[in-house]
Amino acid sequence: MINMILLGPPGAGKGTQAELLVDRYHLPHISTGDIFRAAVKEGSPLGQKAKAFLDAGKLVPDDIVVGIVKERLNQPDCQEGFILDGFPRTIPQAEMLDSYLTEVGRQITAVINIEVDFEVLIRRLTGRRVCRNCHAVYHIANKPAKNPGICDHCGGEIYQRDDDTEETVRKRLEVYQEQTEPLIDYYRKCGKLKTFNGEEPIQTVFDQICFALEEQKG
Ligand code: ADP
Ligand code: ADP
Ligand code: ZN
Repeated sequence: MINMILLGPPGAGKGTQAELLVDRYHLPHISTGDIFRAAVKEGSPLGQKAKAFLDAGKLVPDDIVVGIVKERLNQPDCQEGFILDGFPRTIPQAEMLDSYLTEVGRQITAVINIEVDFEVLIRRLTGRRVCRNCHAVYHIANKPAKNPGICDHCGGEIYQRDDDTEETVRKRLEVYQEQTEPLIDYYRKCGKLKTFNGEEPIQTVFDQICFALEEQKG
């Protein structure tokens, strides 16, 4: 069973690694950022609440996020494992996740912590492009699509997220340092943390994560 959390600052490569992990392990990919962006696009009540936070690069309040994640984890496709990407992002979120999992007799099996230098993150985020349709992740220099503007996987339109501007990126990195970085210690203390150098090439990071997961399975 793999019940995994992908941890790391914005731009570390969580979404990129999640795509590869989904292909290999066939687990559902739960990206809270993707869920919020979809809700904003739909204009649903959740989207209306979340929009201002996303635009400002601030975190959506914990109770809203946790409610959504619990509902998602309850669904049948998550019973054999899952990949959480971008959640938890605060200590209270992590605590609420733990108590929910305990309640349902489950637990997190691995926390994959991806580290990347601050200046590299800024270049990655401002150059990031995403498929509107399948959320595949690209980079104008590091990982361009084969046909400019068109997704390699689904033919969807590739766009730049509204919050991937330099100003909002800096704000998000500050928020990460203040509110999310403490999770590294939180998960280290319970012995679940595995740290990876996210500045290695995408495939190298992936191979190292898989190696660590296989080693754990024994
Ligand atoms: P996160 O989900 O952690 O915010 P992403 O997976 O969206 O990060 O990656 C951010 C940007 O960096 C994307 O444009 C992606 O193509 C690029 N990227 C991801 N991993 C690497 C890597 N190992 N080397 C170079 N660029 C990368
Ligand atoms: P990144 O690629 O920068 O890691 P995400 O796509 O994960 O970004 O998140 C985009 C935005 O969605 C965040 O800036 C925040 O407003 C909101 N968000 C996503 N996940 C969470 C969460 N776990 N808690 C609070 N807000 C979240
Ligand atoms: Zn696509």
